[in-house]
This record gives sequence, C-alpha cells and structure tokens, in this order.
Amino acid sequence: MSFKDFLENFSEIKTQKGNIPVWWVYTAGLAGEIFYEGLKEGKIKGGVCKGCKSIIIPPRIYCEDCFEKIEKFIDVEGPFLVLSFTEIYFDLDGKPLERPYKVGFMVMPNSKGGIIHFLDPEVEICCGDYVKPIFSEKRVGSIKDIKYFTKYKDK
Ligand SMILES: [Zn+2]
Repeated sequence: MSFKDFLENFSEIKTQKGNIPVWWVYTAGLAGEIFYEGLKEGKIKGGVCKGCKSIIIPPRIYCEDCFEKIEKFIDVEGPFLVLSFTEIYFDLDGKPLERPYKVGFMVMPNSKGGIIHFLDPEVEICCGDYVKPIFSEKRVGSIKDIKYFTKYKDK
C-alpha cells in the first residue's frame, strides 16, 4: 500500500485497543522557571536583552528580534496597559455562569510580550486602562499566584 493509499483508506487501518503506559513532565523552561519563581515571591519578572535593550515579559532565554541570549532578569513594576479583553458568560460545558468574568491582555509600555489574565471583577476596566497585579497571599509558583489585575489608580 502506497502512502497515498494509506492516507485515503483509513478504514483499512488495523487498530489494537489498549493503553500505552507513558508519562511526561512539561517544564516551563529556564526563563519560565524564573518567571514562575518570581510569581511565588509576588513579583513579575522580565528579561532584558543586551542587544536591543528590550524588556521581555514574560522573559525568554533569547530575544526574538535580535536573537541575543538573555541573561539579565529584572522585577518589573508595571503598570500594565489593557490592550484587549473579553467577557466570559459560559463555562467550558456551555453552561451559563452565575457571574460573568473578564480576561484581559496586558502589556507593560515600552516592553515586549504581554500577560493574559483575569481582570478585577469588582472594577470596571476597559481597553486603555492601566492595571496592576493583585497577588494571592499563598503563592506556589503558578500563574494563579496572581488573583487578577485591578485598576491602577495613579494613571
Ligand atoms: Zn534584542
């Protein structure tokens, strides 16, 4: 059977029912590890490119623009600018939520990258607003260490 015939005749493919005992660990990578450890400390980390001087959030191990290796990681203070958001009305099963919530895409001006996260449910936040992260009191090194982003009052 040619490969073309193979692709066109799926009904002839023989199958064997069963399970394959495999497991895996998906790592965050070097820069991801720095980012998540920062969250555990209640900080957002960014990488600094020594080539183009960009700050990249979340950090990477190399600059996507100039391919320079990134070896300097800093705490970034923000504030973050809401570029886009959406409001969620249904759960993953299509069941209406009791209370809709917002998810935004935030960037820190003059940096590269961005963060997608929940927006404060108690505050009206729109595109163009400045926001800051509110961290959970108990942090474990997860993106959920940030409860949500709320409006930044000084902007
Ligand atoms: Zn660069």
